[in-house]
Amino acid sequence: MDFELPDDLVALQDVARRFAADNIAPHARQWDREADIPRDLIKKLAEVGFLGIFIPTEFGGSGLGDLAAAVIMEEIARQCGATALMLDAHGALCCAALLIGANEEQRAKYFPPLASGEYLGAWALSESGCGSDAAALQCKAELDGDSWVLNGEKMWITNGHYAGVYVVMAKTTPEGGPKGISAFIVERDTPGFEIGPKEDKMGMRGSDTVGLTFDNARIPKENLCGELNHGFIDSMKVLERGRITISAMSVGLARGALEEALAYSKERVAFRKPIFEQQSVQFKLADMAMEVDAARLLTHRAGILSDAGKPCNIPASMAKLYSSEIATRACMEAIQIHGAMGYTKEVPVERLMRDAKLCEIGEGSSEIQRMVIARHLLEL
Ligand SMILES: Cc1cc2nc3c(=O)[nH]c(=O)nc-3n(C[C@H](O)[C@H](O)[C@H](O)COP(=O)(O)OP(=O)(O)OC[C@H]3O[C@@H](n4cnc5c(N)ncnc54)[C@H](O)[C@@H]3O)c2cc1C
Repeated sequence: MDFELPDDLVALQDVARRFAADNIAPHARQWDREADIPRDLIKKLAEVGFLGIFIPTEFGGSGLGDLAAAVIMEEIARQCGATALMLDAHGALCCAALLIGANEEQRAKYFPPLASGEYLGAWALSESGCGSDAAALQCKAELDGDSWVLNGEKMWITNGHYAGVYVVMAKTTPEGGPKGISAFIVERDTPGFEIGPKEDKMGMRGSDTVGLTFDNARIPKENLCGELNHGFIDSMKVLERGRITISAMSVGLARGALEEALAYSKERVAFRKPIFEQQSVQFKLADMAMEVDAARLLTHRAGILSDAGKPCNIPASMAKLYSSEIATRACMEAIQIHGAMGYTKEVPVERLMRDAKLCEIGEGSSEIQRMVIARHLLEL
């Protein structure tokens, strides 16, 4: 067992760290305030290969695996959770869904523009009436001649405002439950497809989140992605990958909280000495450091198993559950260490806290992860 990253991933980590420090860190606060990430960042992310993390090299992607994605995601999230969430929805959800379901023609058509940044990708499973219980979705698709006709709505769709291509789950066999759902590739300019306004969120504000509506939206028959009625099963595979990425994002946010709190504790003087010299502050920082380390190990284990093609559903759930919960805790402790300053927008820790909370909700809440893990225990 090797706890060190291989040399190529150390080099990749360095590239991601420098990219995030140069292109993201100086602007993260502004993007949070303005609730927008500028389009030129998308171009830069494409140039450095981060939009094509999961896209095979023959289609212009970087052809990387889950461990590499986790390394990149931690570095991006360290500086800006919203940018990391945008990358997650594009790569670990939309591109991963295409990787699972898309045929050669679909790959050749959609992967190059997704890798180059011409298109941002989105993935739409949730609806206003169902999130955790995703199989209860109501959006439906009916075959009419050479077209699928989509009707219904989606909610909470990351990148939905700017995306060029959407993978959308809809019912194709209404009585089939989870085995009656299929995935479809929908292009932005499809008639009958409407994109709602951006949600005014607590955190992850730079990342856009919207509702989508389909009113007799006609898409070509060949835009079915994967096998008919296989969309829900494929979605569960997509979410396995997504959980590793969200876990890595959580590690980045928790590390940010630790680094910011450590730096502040060395500068801030109370009772004639830096607050770092207070044992209660040291204990908080020690716990944060230990938990960040443990979360990273769980994340990397899940990534390594996934890259090796081994079952990683439970390791991914454990990683996502643990990392997201320690991230929120680390951010709360970092705010406490900052005192009144931590309660203002002058320092990054309040933004980190608002961003981190999403990781306990999206792509399977903490409660759902505990259910998945507990069910597995019953099978042992
Ligand atoms: C910023 C953001 C971005 C998102 N991006 C996307 C996206 O790109 N694509 C997409 O498809 N979706 C996206 N989502 C939706 C997200 O995946 C769902 O919000 C999430 O799955 C939770 O669903 P819900 O909000 O409907 O909560 P609900 O399912 O209504 O759950 C509410 C609460 O009840 C708990 N609960 C529910 N069922 C159980 C149970 N059986 N046992 C115990 N507790 C339970 C939950 O854990 C939660 O605490 C996004 C959400 C947000 C906030």
